[in-house]
Amino acid sequence: MTVRVRYAPSPTGHLHIGGARTALFNYLFARKNGGDFIVRIEDTDQKRHVAEAEASQLKNLAWLGIHWDESVDRGGPYAPYRSSERLALYHQYAQMLVDKDLAYPCFCTEAMLEEERERMRGAGLAPKYSGRCALLSPDERAARIAAGEPYALRFRVPPGKTYEIDDEIRGRVSFRSDDMGDFVIIKQDGMPTYNFAVTVDDHLMQINHVIRGEEHLSNTPRQLAIYEAFGWDPPAFAHLPLILNEDKQKMSKRDERTMQFVEQYRALGYLPEALVNFIALLGWAPPGEKELFRLDELIDLFDLSRVSKSPAVFDRQKLMWMNHHYLQKVDPAWIAEVAYPYVRERYPAVPENPSDALWSWFVRVARLYQKELSFAAELALRADLFFKVRFAPETLSAHEPPSLNGWVQEGLDVETSMRVLQAVKDALSSFAHVGQKDMADVPPEAIKDILKAQQKATGIKGKAFFMPIRLAVTGLAHGPELDQTLSLLGLSFVRARLTEALAKLTQAG
Ligand code: GLU
Repeated sequence: MTVRVRYAPSPTGHLHIGGARTALFNYLFARKNGGDFIVRIEDTDQKRHVAEAEASQLKNLAWLGIHWDESVDRGGPYAPYRSSERLALYHQYAQMLVDKDLAYPCFCTEAMLEEERERMRGAGLAPKYSGRCALLSPDERAARIAAGEPYALRFRVPPGKTYEIDDEIRGRVSFRSDDMGDFVIIKQDGMPTYNFAVTVDDHLMQINHVIRGEEHLSNTPRQLAIYEAFGWDPPAFAHLPLILNEDKQKMSKRDERTMQFVEQYRALGYLPEALVNFIALLGWAPPGEKELFRLDELIDLFDLSRVSKSPAVFDRQKLMWMNHHYLQKVDPAWIAEVAYPYVRERYPAVPENPSDALWSWFVRVARLYQKELSFAAELALRADLFFKVRFAPETLSAHEPPSLNGWVQEGLDVETSMRVLQAVKDALSSFAHVGQKDMADVPPEAIKDILKAQQKATGIKGKAFFMPIRLAVTGLAHGPELDQTLSLLGLSFVRARLTEALAKLTQAG
């Protein structure tokens, strides 16, 4: 038997982290077992339908590297793969149930149903359909239909039954049919309900493993009842644990505090490799301590029996850590490209189309900070000094060289520091002829040579030499490589800062 699994999003929005996890686990299970992975679009809930959502879901899945064998875009032996194009099928199958009296027309209006539910709640009961239309005579039904009264079709739930599944993750779960109440399979507007469409589709598409979120566990008995009514074998079920946000609450699409859409991470410069790696570990873990896995390794290792019953926690720090790892392998030009619009947003003076010179400067800044970044857009914050110098010099005060206290706090000797600053400043004056408008005017190699020579000349080395320069120029005690930093900040800025720092220290002394 070929394993056949599906991811069945309702196109109500972008690809959510939870949806991506369902898709990924189905994909891994299919690939691991040499099976088929189907993406079926469940678009029968027109109230919640969002234009573009289907395309966006597919685009983001493909971006993650999750590739499907059958779907709306590439067809397959069980097409169509969009529920709204399968309405005739749902009606045909619903009619089969009506013919066997396993489903019946229900003429209750929404107001009547609401009143009924209210009454049950008032009596402390869980609301369920009373069965008002279950016992109408065939003649009465026919007459009301002929009179044009709108109706839904309801499934007749057999009383006193227990439905059971051996969930591959949760083990045995049982449900009592008496808790369910007869449920709608075709709504008044002719649309199938989720429970009906999903069952008919899973059966017709020969899906033999249903792997989906735990929120669908409570739907399973209705689906089992439908399988039974048709005499079909139900698939195996595996309900994936909830994903909790960092406050240990169920991640809901309405929760604004946690970024929940693949699209958002993508825009910020997270890599698909990192997201796939991170999402794979939301509720699943292979044996051992290792945490970094490529997609092909995940396929190799994936096993439903290692999916946990208890909720997974979305740990953003871990995602950032993983992304940092994968980010080290990318071309800095890619980081620059992703970060550029974010830098522009913070610094409106950044031109929309950078000149070649600006672009290569920008890429060098990205390379300089690559080791420190968790995601590409973070460059806009991390390298703010560089962008301020170039695009918003009026905002530079936060990076000014510190007053005397700052030097002492870093354990620097003031007199030694002043000697270093003076020596470097003098040495840099040999470059005074270099165009001062150009930012990257002195190549880092030349700066390296100067710094080396001045260490020799002053006899001051290590921290006592480098830290005063960095503190004077950037206002910070630590940061990326100094020669690159000075080169990218530009000679005129560096010299002005050295002069300023010397003045501050002289005054203080
Ligand atoms: N369309 C359902 C959803 O988006 C799929 C449920 C299922 O997998 O059965 O949640």
